[in-house]
Amino acid sequence: MGGIFGIVSQDDCAKTLFYGTDYHSHLGTEHGGMAILGGKGFYKTVHNISQAQFKSRFIEDYQEMEGHSGIGAIDDETPQPLIFRSRFGVYAVAAVGLIRNKNQLVSALLNEGANFGERAGGDINNAEIVSYLINRGNNIVEGIASMRGAIEGSICALILTEEGIYAARDKFGRFPLAIGVSRNSEAKSYVVATEASSFENLGYDLIRFMGPGEIVLLTPESVKTVKPEGTEKKICSFLWIYTGYPSSIYEGISVERTRERCGIYLAKRDNVEADLVSGVPDSGVGHAIGYAMGSGIPYRRALVKYTPGYGRSYTPPTQEIRDLVAKMKLCAVHEVINGNRIIICDDSIVRGTQLKNLTIKKLWDNGAKEIHVRPACPPLMFPCIYAASTRTTGELAGRKAIRDLEGKEIENPAEYLDTNSAKHARMIDWIRRDLNVTSLKYLSIEDMIAAIGLPAEQLCLHCWIGK
Ligand code: SF4
Repeated sequence: MGGIFGIVSQDDCAKTLFYGTDYHSHLGTEHGGMAILGGKGFYKTVHNISQAQFKSRFIEDYQEMEGHSGIGAIDDETPQPLIFRSRFGVYAVAAVGLIRNKNQLVSALLNEGANFGERAGGDINNAEIVSYLINRGNNIVEGIASMRGAIEGSICALILTEEGIYAARDKFGRFPLAIGVSRNSEAKSYVVATEASSFENLGYDLIRFMGPGEIVLLTPESVKTVKPEGTEKKICSFLWIYTGYPSSIYEGISVERTRERCGIYLAKRDNVEADLVSGVPDSGVGHAIGYAMGSGIPYRRALVKYTPGYGRSYTPPTQEIRDLVAKMKLCAVHEVINGNRIIICDDSIVRGTQLKNLTIKKLWDNGAKEIHVRPACPPLMFPCIYAASTRTTGELAGRKAIRDLEGKEIENPAEYLDTNSAKHARMIDWIRRDLNVTSLKYLSIEDMIAAIGLPAEQLCLHCWIGK
């Protein structure tokens, strides 16, 4: 989904910008970049990070940078930030999310006389589209608001200007933006970021989360709301289940504590007898710890991740690379697995192929006696339509099951979504057989919502219910 980080400071901010942006590395594996504003004006550096992590790609760049305000981005969609000279002056833009109506928007803007740089493959950089739309406003704030109005999908943006950083959360607050203040009383400074967990080690305290659609102007002296939040919020539920970092917090709700609660709910609804519970690293671990807390079955590490050097396996662009990363990064602990009945918690089942061919196979190969899989959310039935998604409808495990059971594609899987229906039970059993496990039980959507703790109407649940 991508992540952004911004800082305004009375001191030089290059080092904080570098580490703050790096703390978003779990949100993308393709592009990274920073833009800074200092005595020599605007400067930016952008690299492809698919073959090397952000820190190693930028370590030399940041030591050359100086300035009092800056923005950074990690993204799979777009190399950014970009710098523009406009009628509002020079500014830099970092924008993450998805422009679903990109083709229509670009055609309309080209007809208006816009020019866009063309990327390899004919694509156009999202930051360019965002900038062009902003420049159509009477002033920069109006421009940001009307940019978000024109975009279908979801865009969170940081605009680095001479007067400060404009931070704009997407219309429905689908993705988070948090604001922090420096603990250093000698040099005032504010930060804004997708991940509030980036603040702690940088010496900042979380002040608040921005509201849906809110626009603020950050300067070293103050944070001023220049457009108030909207009334409707639909924050992504998957942030707590999978995407977010365990130490992070959204809308005041901790990711790790939510995962523990998911595990506790899974355990509460379960009656399986097992010797140990384990999580698929990293995002399945919090859920598994919760399961252990709720069941009294000991948590043990059947699988560990080879941490020096492997990122997440959902972000690489091709299935082949995703599978390779997933295979290499997970190591089985034979002495824990051998001869045991294992409950294995994961955040979700997307296609099921990695879980089946890598995780489950490793457990069987190492002598597991029984394998009971417990995903911490219901079957995923729809791809994300608000951020770049590598999953398509047809490849989701639930959809494959339905296709096989029905002998054809079913456009509306409503009957299969009803957890009390015979069709739902047949779909789950098909996935269980396909995974080759002893039992399979998903967390219900009601329990997932309860574990997060926000009212259902404030959550985006599209992945599971398609609306
Ligand atoms: Fe999150 Fe799914 Fe909604 Fe996308 S569609 S914002 S991943 S809940």
